[in-house]
Amino acid sequence: MITIEQVSFSYPDGTRALHDVSLTVLAGESTGIVGANGAGKSTLVNHLNGWYLPQTGKITINGVELLKKNREIIRKQAGLVFQNPDDQLFMSRLYDDIIFGPDNLGMNKQKTAEEAERILRDFDLWELRDKPPSRLSQGQKRFAAFAAVLMMHPSVLVMDEPTSDLDPRNRKRLISLVNALPATRVTVSHDLDFIRDTCSEVCIMSEGRIAAKGAAKEILRDR
Ligand code: ADP
Ligand code: ADP
Repeated sequence: MITIEQVSFSYPDGTRALHDVSLTVLAGESTGIVGANGAGKSTLVNHLNGWYLPQTGKITINGVELLKKNREIIRKQAGLVFQNPDDQLFMSRLYDDIIFGPDNLGMNKQKTAEEAERILRDFDLWELRDKPPSRLSQGQKRFAAFAAVLMMHPSVLVMDEPTSDLDPRNRKRLISLVNALPATRVTVSHDLDFIRDTCSEVCIMSEGRIAAKGAAKEILRDR
């Protein structure tokens, strides 16, 4: 479960990106966040794995408050798939990026290897495992970043524009993969059909605030 209470955030140049945002995402629930460019969507979701810390207000993930000292605990639970997969893939070989998280946590190597193969096959990336991530297509990079996050078994999964660069077939495949995950989810997307197909709740953000929220099928009915 995620609770966000009266969170505000300004960038160092003074841009106020979030004003008093409050939102609760119950365990197992999926919430879509939509809104114009610059509305504050990325700033909000980049808080959810501790990439940013709230400047005012409070965020908890599964009951743990998002504070600097809890950042590592939170990152084990909350996986963030960044808007730009290049921010997330930094090894010289795809496979090493996929096993980086579990290896870093000292997880069983045999289990990690089995899981890496399963996940890479799910995303059609197994044959590409020895390639440098920088040589993958944008869509393949996006799936690679996803695969690396899923290796950590996040109980909270946060996705920022997950369908950009995906062709219709891979977009469909992502919908089934995402819907099969047990995680509590938050998805930022301009792809309203994707939100409708994968989220139960929707929030509309505007100028750093939550302008409306409700059931996805009602809020998105006429859009
Ligand atoms: P969205 O994801 O909805 O497009 P963002 O969260 O990226 O919106 O941006 C919210 C506001 O914060 C915008 O006014 C944007 O220009 C500003 N902003 C985003 N990143 C930075 C940054 N690193 N420095 C200064 N301002 C930023
Ligand atoms: P910091 O410098 O803030 O400690 P790290 O780069 O060490 O950040 O990574 C922070 C967390 O993100 C770690 O717990 C790590 O497990 C996870 N992580 C980083 N990169 C990957 C990756 N490619 N795949 C899976 N998890 C990753």
